[in-house]
Amino acid sequence: MEDSAKSRPHIVVVGGGFAGLEFAKGLKHKEVDVTIVDKHNYHTFQPLLYQVATGGLEPDSIAYPLRKVFRKAKNVFVRWATVEHINTETQVLTTDLCDIHYDYLVLATGSTGRYFNFEGIKDKMLTLKTVPDALNLRSYILQNFEKAIAEQNPAYFEELINIAIVGGGPTGLELAGALGEMKQHILPLDYPEIDLNKMKIVLFQSGEALLAGMSELASKKALKYLKELGVEVRLNDRVVDYDGDVLKTQGGYEMRTDTLIWTAGVKATFPNGLPEAAIDCGRVRVNQFSNVLGTNNIYAIGDVAEMASEDFPRGHPMMAPVAQQQGQLLAKNLLRSQAGKEMQPFVYNDKGTMATVGRNRAVVDLPKYSFSGFWAWITWMLVHVALLVGFRNKIAALFDWVVNYFTYDSPMRLIIRPFREEGVGTSSSVKEELRR
Ligand SMILES: Cc1cc2nc3c(=O)[nH]c(=O)nc-3n(C[C@H](O)[C@H](O)[C@H](O)COP(=O)(O)OP(=O)(O)OC[C@H]3O[C@@H](n4cnc5c(N)ncnc54)[C@H](O)[C@@H]3O)c2cc1C
Repeated sequence: MEDSAKSRPHIVVVGGGFAGLEFAKGLKHKEVDVTIVDKHNYHTFQPLLYQVATGGLEPDSIAYPLRKVFRKAKNVFVRWATVEHINTETQVLTTDLCDIHYDYLVLATGSTGRYFNFEGIKDKMLTLKTVPDALNLRSYILQNFEKAIAEQNPAYFEELINIAIVGGGPTGLELAGALGEMKQHILPLDYPEIDLNKMKIVLFQSGEALLAGMSELASKKALKYLKELGVEVRLNDRVVDYDGDVLKTQGGYEMRTDTLIWTAGVKATFPNGLPEAAIDCGRVRVNQFSNVLGTNNIYAIGDVAEMASEDFPRGHPMMAPVAQQQGQLLAKNLLRSQAGKEMQPFVYNDKGTMATVGRNRAVVDLPKYSFSGFWAWITWMLVHVALLVGFRNKIAALFDWVVNYFTYDSPMRLIIRPFREEGVGTSSSVKEELRR
């Protein structure tokens, strides 16, 4: 595919996430050649990463091989590669695998963590963006519990078992809820030697409410649910410092912890080479047809794209449905354009948002109605099962959830890949001193 001059257009889409996947699906069996380039050979269902991190689901249930999705589509090709540079003149992408020529380029590269003034110490924190991140987090928490059993120093013991989460959005909230459940139901059985009354799970949110962007009901209920699960929520309290041992907030709160999980911000990520005028506040500016400003054959969809509109002057929210809808429409629009028809502008169809805080507890905001509790949780579960890619993944996730529901347990607590990364965890001098 890479070098051949073909009569039909060669569309290269960088990223097989929510946007890229829907885009490529829309072009299956059509009169175009499509190459999906992704640095992972699978699609990741990010909204359920926290379940992998807390042992509720296997990683295989939320990831799906891209090659399998397109096995029957003879016009869709997959390249496992990281795109490093775009040459808009020669229409060539430089990747760590090979150079790839495009007639049309679609950027669907998503986003990555944004650390604000914590950039310098991001190595001391854990994050949750990819399947490896989720497995690292799972291993890390379990490893610390294994170490805590033998730890004699009370201060270091505290550090090993305490968990801090920064960011009161859906990711921070869902993770905190799942950890709260783990503390209530699983850790007491697995680690009877550890006094769990001493364990603190604290969620820090710099704003005055959780789930900013959702309804007041959702925000209040989420707070109530987390408290019921023993999670301490600190609103209006910004974390200002963390040295790998002690976290400090603006309000003067201090907490000893070895596990600081950062979920407080995201920023777009994309290869370099785009015209400077196309970049605004770190996102790629596009028009209502997803066309990148200052180019005629480059498009951007999903988290990476800043499509300003009357309703969304700073671009659409970085959410899976936006990415999917932009991907679907762009595929249709490119086919329309090929057929000499006019493209249709993008209008976001907001079907609602939801978040869960453990079993029987969830919040759902529909466009005109909000609800919470058991039925919200059932709704959350069914919607997520329906959205997972692949029949096996849907069945596996549903099966695990049903078993976990009745047994209050899950067997996914293997430390398969002990996580030791420079910076995170045990290397600090303070800890060495504590040990002496
Ligand atoms: C933990 C978590 C929980 C979330 N929960 C929700 C939720 O409950 N509801 C919701 O609506 N949204 C949620 N989101 C946000 C949602 O996942 C994103 O909005 C969505 O994934 C955006 O889709 P995308 O296609 O733009 O990017 P992604 O899905 O991130 O896909 C980007 C793809 O591009 C690839 N890529 C990136 N750079 C390169 C490169 N240089 N070369 C090759 N490949 C590259 C990546 O490997 C990835 O596969 C959550 C996100 C996270 C991290």
